[in-house]
Formats: sequence, structure tokens, C-alpha cells
Amino acid sequence: MVMKWRIGDFAVELVIRDWFKLDAGFLFRGAGKRYWPSFFKGTDIAVDENNMVRIPVNAYLITAPDGRTVLVDTGLGDVRTRWSESTLHEFEPENEFNLLPERGIVPDYVIPTHLHWDHAGGLARVLGGRILPVFQKTEHIFHKNEYEHARAAHPYNRSSYRRETIEGIKAVMKNRKIRVHFAHSKKWKLSEVGGPAGIELIRTRGHTPGHMSVLVGKPRSKTKGFITGALLPTRCHCHPAIGVGNDTHGLLGSDLRLKYLLKAANEKWIVFPEHDVSPAGRISIDGKGAFRFDLVPDEN
Ligand SMILES: [Zn+2]
Repeated sequence: MVMKWRIGDFAVELVIRDWFKLDAGFLFRGAGKRYWPSFFKGTDIAVDENNMVRIPVNAYLITAPDGRTVLVDTGLGDVRTRWSESTLHEFEPENEFNLLPERGIVPDYVIPTHLHWDHAGGLARVLGGRILPVFQKTEHIFHKNEYEHARAAHPYNRSSYRRETIEGIKAVMKNRKIRVHFAHSKKWKLSEVGGPAGIELIRTRGHTPGHMSVLVGKPRSKTKGFITGALLPTRCHCHPAIGVGNDTHGLLGSDLRLKYLLKAANEKWIVFPEHDVSPAGRISIDGKGAFRFDLVPDEN
């Protein structure tokens, strides 16, 4: 399975795909149940008898013109401990593919858009009963605000950070061989720490305090790629009233989403949503002023 898109001299490839179940009322906060049939019309979203939807988690690998690679998000990972056994079953997590070990790819950088378990869970694994970093030779990039919030374990959303994921991040921090960088501003370039030019991390606060989306492409590039993270989980979230149940800054998140959807439509970006079955799409604005998401097929 190869799903790859060209963004100027860059490539973006879907390299990890996991699946899990979430409550539809949680994933589409703001869409009342009686509106669901019209809301999901024309999408491949199906709600089961328990109001759960099965959704993918997409992780993307950017290959820069100089050949260096950047992994954005890591999927669920496979850390199971006594903490998670009792709660994990309701999500029915499942890995569809992970091309990294298959192809022996060790990314030069890894950037979790945020540290929730479905995005940062794959940073760690269990070996000999210990939680250890998966990427021992990869530079890790966290947003300072996100790291601090995740470590603070606020009761509002600490269940989204899952204890195993936090232990995995602690293991990364403890490992002296792993270089860790903290993005600390609203816009931060990977080149600031010696990474390839043309990869910008934009703090798109809303889902979490230090959430980041990743913009790919040189400044003059005709098109850009935008890996949204939870700024746009699915195409249904193009609607400004729809958020996710655990968003920390709902209004701010909606404002930033509108801002970047507008930019994406005007500048013809290819948008990579984290939880949509279609891993890439273009944004346009229809006659009624609503955003549309149209699939961009991969180039294989
Ligand atoms: Zn999340």
C-alpha cells in the first residue's frame, strides 16, 4: 500500500493507519443526533447501534527535497499495560498498516500534532516490561504549551492523554541520546533546529493548548500541503459549529479553522486530515459560502 502526494519538491505519504471507535456525539460535538443522517450524507461515516463511529488515525511522512524525513503523528502504538486493559476495549483499536518497520524507515524528525494517545501513542512501546521510546535516533519536536499541559494532567482532559503515552514521553525525555526540541511560538520553522527548510509548525490551539498543524512547501511553492492534526479531524469539521468533545478552546479553534480553511481554499493547498477516510483533499467554498472537502487521489 503506497499513498503518496507530491507537494513541489516534497512528498507526503500516508505511512501509518490505525482505526478505533469513538462516540459520534463526542467526535462531532455540536451536531445533534437528529441531524446526523443529513450531516453524514455523502460521507463514508456510519454510526452503529451504540452511536459509535469507526474512524482512522492517519500518520504522514514528509520527505524533504534533501531526502530527510519527518513523521507527523505516530498513531495509537501498541502499548498495553494493566492501566489500559480495562478501558481500551471500548475503542476497539486496530492497526491497518505501519510502513516504517516494514521498510526500515527511521525518520529524522517526529512531530506529534498534540500528545493525545491516538497521535502520540506510537512514540513508545513495551520491551521487557518497560515503556521505551520507539524512535531512538529521531529528533522529537513537542510544542512547549502542549508538553506542559499534557504533563499537568488536568482533570478536564487527562483521559485523552492516557498514562502510557505520558510515560512514553517521559522515557523519550530521559533518554540522553534522543534530541528533543520545543516549539515555543505561534509559528516555528523546523529549519530553526537544523531541519529542512519549508516545514512550518503552526500552533493551532483549540483542540489542545499546544496543538500544532504542519505546513509543507517552500514560500514560493505553487501549492502547499497542510497536515491539520485535530484542527480538521474529518471533512465534517469544515462546519464552523462542529468541534470535538474534549476541545480546550472551542471558539479559538473554530476561528483558526476558518482562517486556515480559507487560506487552503484560496491558495489551493492539499489538506491532510487526521481522522478522515480520505487522507488528502482540497478545500473549496460553495455557492452558499460553506467549505467543501474534495478528495485528492494519490499519485500512484
Ligand atoms: Zn486529539
